[in-house]
Amino acid sequence: SLILGIETSCDDTGCAIVDSEGNILGEALNSQHLIHLKHGGIIPPIAQDLHRRNIESVVTEALKTASLNVNDVDAVATTVKPGLPLSLTIGTKYGKHLCQLYNKPFIPIHHMEAHALTARMHDNTLKFPFLVLLISGGHCLLAVAQAVDRFLLMGQSCDDAPGEVFDKMARRLKLKDIPEYSKMSGGQAIEVAASKATDPLQFHFTPTLLQYRDCNFSFAGNKNQFVRHIIAQERKYELSPDAVIPDVNNLCAGLQFVITRHLCHRVQRGMEYVALNGLIPPDHKTLVVSGGVACNNFVACGLQILCNELGYKLVRPPHKLCTDNGVMIAWNGIER
Ligand code: ATP
Ligand code: FE
Repeated sequence: SLILGIETSCDDTGCAIVDSEGNILGEALNSQHLIHLKHGGIIPPIAQDLHRRNIESVVTEALKTASLNVNDVDAVATTVKPGLPLSLTIGTKYGKHLCQLYNKPFIPIHHMEAHALTARMHDNTLKFPFLVLLISGGHCLLAVAQAVDRFLLMGQSCDDAPGEVFDKMARRLKLKDIPEYSKMSGGQAIEVAASKATDPLQFHFTPTLLQYRDCNFSFAGNKNQFVRHIIAQERKYELSPDAVIPDVNNLCAGLQFVITRHLCHRVQRGMEYVALNGLIPPDHKTLVVSGGVACNNFVACGLQILCNELGYKLVRPPHKLCTDNGVMIAWNGIER
C-alpha cells in the first residue's frame, strides 16, 4: 500500500509518500528554523501561521516528486499529538480535509511512536521487542517497543529534554552570532564547537542521579551549572553582554560530555532491568536511538561503547530521519 504522511507538530512542515517496503516515493520539508532563530525561540502563533501558509505547497511538492495524485494513495497519516497544539491543528485539519475530499481513511499518528518506528523502515531485520531511546527537543524517553502500538515506558526526563538544553544553552552562548553556526540548530552548533575543544575537561559538571536506581533522566541541574560557568567566565574576563566567552568550545565539550554520560548511564540501567526481567531475548539485544539529538555523533559514540560492552546492536536512522519529517509519519501509517 501507499501512505501519504503529514507532520506539523512543531516547526517543520513535512510530507512524504512511502510504500509498504519502506521506499520513499516522494517527500518535501519546509523548515521554519531560520525564522524562529530570529525570535530567539519558537513563538506558537508564528509557527502556526507558517504551517498554514506552507502546508498545501509542501503536500503538492511531495506528490509531485512522487508523480502521484492523492487518489493514488491508500490513506493519509497525520501527526495528531504530542506537540504544539496550534501547529498540530494545521496538519490535522489539512489531513482530514484531504481524506474527505478524496474519500480516504485518516490514520492519526503519535509523533514519538513515529520517531521510534522509523528505524524499522530501512532495517527489516529489526523485530519487536527492542529497546528505544528517544532524545529530542521536547522529549527524553526510554522504552521497550513491544509492538507497533505497545510501548513499555521505562524512564523519562524529570525536567528538560536534552535538545531543549542544547538549544537554550546555544542561545545563552550567542552561538548563532558566529557566522559558522548561524544556520545550525543549537544542538548541532554545540556539537561542532565541542569538536574544537582544546581541553574538554576544563569545566566540571556533576553527574546527575547517580544514586537513583530507576531509568529516569534529569538535565536541568547540568543546565544550571552551565549557566553558572558562563557567568563566572563573563566576570573573569569582564566581558560586555554581547561578547562570546573565550573558552566556549571547552564549555560546550563539557556539557556534551556530561549529557552523553548521563544518557549512557541511564540506558545502562535500562539494559540491566530488561535483562533481569527477560523483556528482550538475549539473542536479539537491540537499542534504537532516534529524535533530533540522535544526530549527535559524540552521543552516538557513547551509546556505541555501551552497546559493545553489553552485547547490544545499536541502530541509528540517518540524520534526516532522526529530526522531524513527513517520512516517519507515512511509515508509521504503513505500520499501523
Ligand atoms: P519532539 O520530537 O520531542 O516533539 P522536536 O520534534 O522539536 O521535539 P526533533 O526535530 O526531533 O525535536 O529534534 C530537534 C532537536 O534536536 C533540537 O533540540 C536540536 O537542537 C537537536 N539536535 C539536532 N542536531 C543535533 C546534534 N547534532 N546534536 C545535538 N542535538 C541536536
Ligand atoms: Fe520530533
